[in-house]
Order: sequence, then structure tokens, then C-alpha cells
Amino acid sequence: MTRRGEVTAYVGLGANLGDPVAALRLALDRLGQAAGIQGVRASGFYRSAPVDAAGPWYCNAVAEVRTTLTAPALLALLQSLERAAGRQRPYRNAPRTLDLDVLLYGSARIASPDLTVPHPRWRQRAFVLRPLQELDPARVDAADLAAVADQAIERLP
Ligand code: AMP
Repeated sequence: MTRRGEVTAYVGLGANLGDPVAALRLALDRLGQAAGIQGVRASGFYRSAPVDAAGPWYCNAVAEVRTTLTAPALLALLQSLERAAGRQRPYRNAPRTLDLDVLLYGSARIASPDLTVPHPRWRQRAFVLRPLQELDPARVDAADLAAVADQAIERLP
């Protein structure tokens, strides 16, 4: 049940440097404790090969977040968590200690210079579709899943 003023958003988490599992756990904890976040429900953790990028395999998950933050405020929170994890941006798609994306924010459609929601590539990424399917199967289209079947991914035990 969502309270008045609360929005259900989905956040994508990924990391492929340092200790990615620990980085995701810490990010989920911090997200759950942040002001304006009323609840967090996390998928299992997955291991996926980098898409359009080099470097080690990623650890990925998706979190369903109940929030009273606006979408830009949620993005700002996620970016502060990335910075807290020591995230640097030496070049596009560089390996990262923590990457947090706003995948969906209720049914909002946003196209601002800083924020595009739904995230432009969420339906083309197995590392989003598979964990999201765990949280809310109805949101994931079988045809989208079939289209990403060639992307290497496995659920961690
Ligand atoms: P990245 O380096 O992949 O983490 O991309 C971060 C940049 O993407 C930031 O400058 C954000 O302002 C921008 N951005 C646009 N839409 C989104 C979104 N839905 N979630 C996260 N970052 C976004």
C-alpha cells in the first residue's frame, strides 16, 4: 500500500570495482536510511558481463523504493551515494565502484538535461529486466526478456 504523496520508483544498482557485493549492500542500507525514503525492497544480486564497456563483470540489482522525494531529488540522493562510494568518472562507461540509476519513477515521463525517465536503456539490459522481474513480474515484457537472452548474466546464490 502506498501512502499519499509516496511514489514507487525503481533504482538500478551496479558495481564492478573493489568489492561489488559489499558496495551494493552498503548502498541499499544507506538508501533505506535516507530522508524521504519510506521503504526499500531489493532484488537478489546478479553477476553480468559488461555491456558496451570493458572491465570486470558487474554485480547488479534493482531496488523498489517508496519515496516522497521528487525525481530530481532522488537522483541527487543516488549521486551522493555514488560519491560516498568513491565513484570517479574518468571516462564514459568506465569501470565503477557504484552506479545508481533511476529506472522508473511511478508512471512519470521526464526528459530534462539531467534526468531521463524511464531510463532510456532499461528495456535493453538483462541486468535490469531480470532483477526487476523478481520484484514486479508484470513490469517486464516477455519479448524484451527474449531480446536480451544473449546477454551473459547469472543470479548469485
Ligand atoms: P552515469 O555516468 O552512467 O552514472 O550517468 C550519469 C549521468 O546521467 C548524470 O549526469 C545524470 O544526470 C544522467 N542521467 C540522466 N537520466 C538518468 C537516470 N534516469 N538515472 C541516472 N542518471 C541519469
